[in-house]
Amino acid sequence: MATNEILEGLIKDPDRLKDLADEAKELALQHGALLRIFENPNSSEVITYTPFTLFPSPVPKAKFLQALALQIHYNLLVDRISQDPGFLEEALASTIQADDFTANLFRLYREVQQEGRTKSIVMGLNRSDYMLDQREDGTCSLKQTEINTIAVGGICISGNLPVVHRRILQMLGLLEESQCVPENNCIAGMTRALARAWELYGQQEAVVMFLVEDVQLHKLGQRCIEHQLWRRDGLEVAVVFYCHGFMPENYKEQSWDVRLLMERSLAVKCPDISTHLAGTKKVQQELARPGVLERFFPDQPQVVEQIRATFAGLYSLDMGPEGDQTVAMALANPEKFVLKPQREGGGNNVYGEDIVRVLEEVKGDKRRAAYILMDKIRPKTEQNILLKTGQPLKLTSVCYEIGAFGAYVRQGKDMVMNECVGHLLRTKNSEQFEGGITARVSALDNPLLV
Ligand code: ADP
Ligand code: MG
Repeated sequence: MATNEILEGLIKDPDRLKDLADEAKELALQHGALLRIFENPNSSEVITYTPFTLFPSPVPKAKFLQALALQIHYNLLVDRISQDPGFLEEALASTIQADDFTANLFRLYREVQQEGRTKSIVMGLNRSDYMLDQREDGTCSLKQTEINTIAVGGICISGNLPVVHRRILQMLGLLEESQCVPENNCIAGMTRALARAWELYGQQEAVVMFLVEDVQLHKLGQRCIEHQLWRRDGLEVAVVFYCHGFMPENYKEQSWDVRLLMERSLAVKCPDISTHLAGTKKVQQELARPGVLERFFPDQPQVVEQIRATFAGLYSLDMGPEGDQTVAMALANPEKFVLKPQREGGGNNVYGEDIVRVLEEVKGDKRRAAYILMDKIRPKTEQNILLKTGQPLKLTSVCYEIGAFGAYVRQGKDMVMNECVGHLLRTKNSEQFEGGITARVSALDNPLLV
């Protein structure tokens, strides 16, 4: 790769590297890759750039397009799971015995389910994340790390970076490469979905309500969506858009009542509670069982095959012989697996010797059903320079994760919109187990399609 030689040249010439990095940071600021600062997340007095990579990462074009093409099928899968109470009941039965947060979500789900309120309009916005797993024969395959169905991050910022990376490549004379950084306009697609749901709700005076947290690091991005939507007065809510509410810490006791109120309301929820539950790690693991995808795509064996090809090994830790076998397998080779609780937002998964410690503690009782076990994906590493506020410029071994954004709107049985609306490439130091831009680990990146 031409960029590799350039990287090595830059590392030997710190003045030139600093000039280029400064230029990149200024370009990022000019093009709106902005973040409020962690020290003062509720103020726009001082802002900074979103952490990002100096260079785009080379990503095999075929794998990238595979992830984007799959997204409409993943949208359907999530939506179909959300409409299948029997499946959700069964899949989550042991998890809700062991995990309070999932149990609380499930309690609300059952309550609205029993009230029989049919919601004719449903809107989903999700992000399916993948890494390229390196096989021993030198080939690689796209493997899903997880799918997020609530408060999906990265939509607002990912579209700002292509122009920055293209410009950096052009400045270094890499004109051909600069044309291999694809366009990415997630905000347009997801705004279209919100607007469609609002239109179908059919009340001119009704609004789209953004549910946000009180620490608003990402407010500037969320406002971009708001600016693209129609501005209306009035208080009737047509669409509730969750930018928050995905982790236990987001809820006080009273918040559960508020969530129930919203769930019962006529408003379109993005996501509704069943769609939220469809995004749990337990559901991801249950989908990997033989025959389960067929339940959701009964007449489409090719779709089943395409989705299944992206599944890494996923194993149940429910009580019983199957779960016992999973425990034994993990204890024998902990470095080959990731142990995952039902949490979102990064920093919750367990790796290496910690797997042994946690499993030794919970393996004898139902607490272990709060987790699932997954094969550890071994992504290829590349060299890059991560630009993060206050951090020195150095050559770093990095790996990336591809996210595909899906947006859909369903009215009754009709899918009135089902699209892949863009992508997110996040790159982290390959020595880090976990990713996440808010967690200050990953940096925003672009694929350089090769
Ligand atoms: P969360 O919902 O908290 O974001 P994820 O399951 O997406 O949790 O995992 C967080 C990060 O951990 C991912 O972004 C990825 O970098 C890493 N990770 C997750 N699963 C695997 C896996 N099976 N193999 C290797 N790394 C993984
Ligand atoms: Mg997640």
